[in-house]
Amino acid sequence: MASARRRTAYVGLGANVGDAGATLAAAIHALAALPDVRVRGVSRLYATVPVGVVDQPEFRNAVTALEVPAGPDDTTGALALLIALKGLERAFGRQRRTRWGPRELDLDLLVFGRARLSVERPEAARSLDAEVDPARATRLLEVPHRDARERLFVLAPLSDLAPGLVPPGWGEAVDTARRRREIAEGADAVRPIASWRGGPRSGEWTAPA
Ligand code: ATP
Ligand code: MG
Ligand code: MG
Repeated sequence: MASARRRTAYVGLGANVGDAGATLAAAIHALAALPDVRVRGVSRLYATVPVGVVDQPEFRNAVTALEVPAGPDDTTGALALLIALKGLERAFGRQRRTRWGPRELDLDLLVFGRARLSVERPEAARSLDAEVDPARATRLLEVPHRDARERLFVLAPLSDLAPGLVPPGWGEAVDTARRRREIAEGADAVRPIASWRGGPRSGEWTAPA
């Protein structure tokens, strides 16, 4: 008998090429159209100052809460979702570029239920940028996402959806981490600019936040 077990997963979205807000809206529609995936929540849309490579356009970032099949085990379930995310990145024309540089669409798996994973990825889940940055080819799938806790552009939208969530291994709630990073990065680094109005399949960003 097929398992009906589900998990809540949080996915971080980012883009800074072209009309990035429109790209994130289209990506949310595409996530909602994935087989067996339900979009349970959409954060506000944020304008964010680039981290790492700073000489590039501002980013737009958001987070979605998804309800997805648990899979036979968490590793299989999380990898299946990661493969679907990488497929969407390709469909949205993400080009091979250097790390932290401009991108059409970045979809990162932030949290997958209560799972704490560090596993080898199959080919389909590998970075498009592995060819220009070989270090990336060997990276594992790590869940919760390795750097989410230190990135205000992730914590602010995640806190819209799940302020009290304590991701496995963090030892603090999302909103506590957000406030810590807001002091470190400054409140202007990450600014809410719009809210999601409408259903996941046809909604859109509506300003002001
Ligand atoms: P960062 O991971 O620092 O946000 P990035 O999103 O720019 O960097 P990508 O090119 O999108 O990097 O992905 C780099 C590699 O990280 C991919 O091959 C991906 O499989 C791997 N990876 C490891 N853990 C995760 C995760 N939790 N979510 C998404 N990708 C992950
Ligand atoms: Mg990323
Ligand atoms: Mg990524």
